[in-house]
Amino acid sequence: MSLRPAALALATVLMTSTAVSAQVQVDPERLNALTRELASDRFEGRAPGTPGETLTVEWIAEQFKALGLEPGGPDGSWFQTAEVSRTGPDGPAVLTARAGDHTVSFARADEIIVGSDRPVSRITLTDTPVVFAGYGVSAPERGWDDFKDVDVRGKLLLVIVNDPDFGAPEGHPVANTFDGQAMTFYGRWPYKFQEAAAQGAAGVLVIHDTGGAGYPWSTLAGSSTAPDLDIVRADPDKERVAAQGWISSEATQKLLQLAGLDLDTLRVAARSRDFRPVELDGVTMNIDFGQKADRIQTRNVIARITGTERPDETVMFGAHWDAYGRGTPKDGDDIYNGAVDNATGVAGVLEIARLFAQGERPKRSVVFISWAAEETGLLGAEYYAANPVYPLEKTVANINMDSLLPGDDIDPNIVVIGAGKSDLDARLLPYATREGRRLIPDPAPQAGAFYRSDHFPLARAGVPALFAAAGFTGHNEASRQYVSGAYHTPKDEWMPDWTMKAAAADVQLIYEVGRELADSSDWPQWSAGSEFEGVRKQSEDQRRP
Ligand SMILES: [Zn+2]
Repeated sequence: MSLRPAALALATVLMTSTAVSAQVQVDPERLNALTRELASDRFEGRAPGTPGETLTVEWIAEQFKALGLEPGGPDGSWFQTAEVSRTGPDGPAVLTARAGDHTVSFARADEIIVGSDRPVSRITLTDTPVVFAGYGVSAPERGWDDFKDVDVRGKLLLVIVNDPDFGAPEGHPVANTFDGQAMTFYGRWPYKFQEAAAQGAAGVLVIHDTGGAGYPWSTLAGSSTAPDLDIVRADPDKERVAAQGWISSEATQKLLQLAGLDLDTLRVAARSRDFRPVELDGVTMNIDFGQKADRIQTRNVIARITGTERPDETVMFGAHWDAYGRGTPKDGDDIYNGAVDNATGVAGVLEIARLFAQGERPKRSVVFISWAAEETGLLGAEYYAANPVYPLEKTVANINMDSLLPGDDIDPNIVVIGAGKSDLDARLLPYATREGRRLIPDPAPQAGAFYRSDHFPLARAGVPALFAAAGFTGHNEASRQYVSGAYHTPKDEWMPDWTMKAAAADVQLIYEVGRELADSSDWPQWSAGSEFEGVRKQSEDQRRP
């Protein structure tokens, strides 16, 4: 109720349909108190599948309940339980390549890192033909297909990390075909694993190089014994290859030499629309390893306000609740509290829920989700995308919060992750402008942030996504300090000097955009040429104009 008069006058001009919403304000103190509580040690770092999870999800559900929201999960529950498959190495691996009577062996972790998302205790590939498949990309909307009409079923694929224009000089025919230096989803390993499965391959190894991957081999090797988590798939054999992982550039060269091929030459060939997969003539691989496989459960927390006029249309706000639990101590502290990442985002969702609960009932339904297991592969959101509680075709927008700036200083720049992919930025712009702020694109697009938080699995299923906030990509000093000192460590803790004023400013804008959509009959659109436009179009007739 305490909006400044000048802002109110301008807000009325800009938002005739949302005059009511402009009167409700995000409360930084409440945001701070919620963040402090969620980041406290009693939640033990909020790791999925631990007692810390149980405490966390029940606490979040209680907050929603206290606000008077409806349970939004299946069967009148506050929770959607995601079934997660967990696989991890068990015993040694055999990794050999053969050409005629010549056999070479590869060292696990040093040369090849391999695992499987199939929930089985042993993976064995015998005398499997090997195919170099370029970047392993099939992107019809960009006119790119590395596979052409080549049948790679039952074969082991080698694919280059990143996307085809990565590092291509200006003027090269492929320059900017995949957004230039920005990482697209096609450049990331989860895509390459999935595409290999879609092509019917037996296995896939991504060829590592530090520039293309964005991290050295040692980063991969360091986590190579950690279990792999994936949502339980309806048909794992169809959706996941038997063996997936990484191969170092040196090991790739060793393998290619068996067929008289050379990695540098193949890299040049791959950087062309005319590229065709290259079989390593006369070369086969044997891969054999044991696995531990079991299942865990983790829960999304879901609350809802049913819309008055179009209850079947849903505006969604989300933020992941999980962090890293207890782990390697740093300065004697073993709790990875995840205060910025992402107690702040959950607090933001809870605060937005309060504004909706206390304001006029929206015309469309609004759903508030706290996602499970983001840090282990966006699993809560993946599970929801595969098992939507509310139809994705009629989900208007998915507004994500992941890591908000906790201090006083409101950054004039708001980073839009995935800027220009949809018209949602244009809908945010007037609210930002009103506050004297501006929208800037991701200053580190090579990191592929758009593909690494919870809005993404739903975006792939067509739901327009908004992911915008000041400073979690290191574009300002506070976020740089955070990224270098605290991010994903026990140092990501609530601090007594936090005020959440900067976060509150962002949450207010995010609320206002969502409020406008919740009272509108408009449907946000993906931009022409965006990778999600095609899938959204398929359900166009289900959305009223
Ligand atoms: Zn996060």
